[in-house]
Amino acid sequence: MNKRQEWNRREFIVKPIVWAGAATVLGQTDLLLASPVNPTANSPVLQRTLGKTGITLPIVSMGVMNADVPGLLRRAYEVGIRHFDTAAGYKQGRNEEMVGQVIKELGVRDEVTISTKQASRNRPQNVAEAKKRFIEGVESSLRRLQMDHVDILYHHAVDSVEDARADGPLEALQSLKKDGKTRFVALSTHKTQDVINEAVRLNLFDVALVTLNYTMAHDAGVLSTIERAAKSGIGIVAMKTQAGGTVRPDAKLPKQLPAASQTALLKWVLNHDFITTAIPGFSTYEHLEQDFSVARNLTYTDEEERFLADKSFAAQAEFCQQCGQCKDDCPKQVDVPALMRAHMYAVQYRNTGMAREMLASVALGRGVDACDSCESCMVACRNSVQIAKKIAQLKSVRNELLSC
Ligand code: SF4
Ligand code: SF4
Repeated sequence: MNKRQEWNRREFIVKPIVWAGAATVLGQTDLLLASPVNPTANSPVLQRTLGKTGITLPIVSMGVMNADVPGLLRRAYEVGIRHFDTAAGYKQGRNEEMVGQVIKELGVRDEVTISTKQASRNRPQNVAEAKKRFIEGVESSLRRLQMDHVDILYHHAVDSVEDARADGPLEALQSLKKDGKTRFVALSTHKTQDVINEAVRLNLFDVALVTLNYTMAHDAGVLSTIERAAKSGIGIVAMKTQAGGTVRPDAKLPKQLPAASQTALLKWVLNHDFITTAIPGFSTYEHLEQDFSVARNLTYTDEEERFLADKSFAAQAEFCQQCGQCKDDCPKQVDVPALMRAHMYAVQYRNTGMAREMLASVALGRGVDACDSCESCMVACRNSVQIAKKIAQLKSVRNELLSC
């Protein structure tokens, strides 16, 4: 095996922890200084309208999920970002607290679009109880955000048609909108095709947050589904746009991808004009500046064109598209799509909290412990993800993740 491709267990364990520790210190002291350089400062920021909401946004927004440093949000506002995306579950609510505090300190609540998300995993069968729990969750979010309302409220991680139709969350969303706790209601999904088709049919959602990146370029079904939703008036926000970011110790790629790969990938998504804005989850000032440069210029550079022309990226990135096609393949009923997501959070995003939360959400008896590490894994990915290798990596660090 090539040394560069070899899995380095120590790196996997240590880096996220060191990163998390460093981020905590820097978050307290704001020692990370913003880069003063903005190479495209003279070009206008490209803006698009978010479907029937009528909200106009720069095409690059901020997914706050991976950010631990308040100064990074302040800098994001300073460079021109006007949409900040968080969720109740991110860092057990501390992510919302950080967003709320920074927006309050900046005094710019009326100038920005704030979105948050409420999950309904393990929802009770009783509709009234499910609705009550959802509303209580959103009210807690508003307290953490120090806001009386958000602009976009997502039903989070709606990964089946049944979840999209679930009465409890749907009634809660409508009630919260009526009470002015959110201006618009939305859903987020990793199962784009089925769930977005259902969202169009239901005609109840103002916005949808969907996974879209270059590894899905061949998938005409996903692209046409999203376009159809946009044409129906649903505002489309894109996530997972860089298919896992620059750090790739898990894939058949260089461990650190060049900056041009990230801007190329983001431009590819945003060159679909039915995408209003993207929420890259940058966690450094350098990546913030790189990503936001795309908002001023969607034309590919020569280097970006070369990167996209190399068709091997899609296979080598080993990006789990959460298509779910492998979900019934394991004789031990291991929830492979969920474990692939946990792996992405832990390895590529270096977000131990999200990885831990994802592992904890897997149904009893379907997590890493259920996997027997068979000599030959019977689950084959339709998209080149090396499932057995990733599960083995998760197993090797599970205890460290769960004790963080
Ligand atoms: S190795 Fe593959 S087939 Fe075997 S238990 Fe694990 S996921 Fe299932
Ligand atoms: S591992 Fe492959 S087949 Fe399974 S959900 Fe992910 S992309 Fe789909």
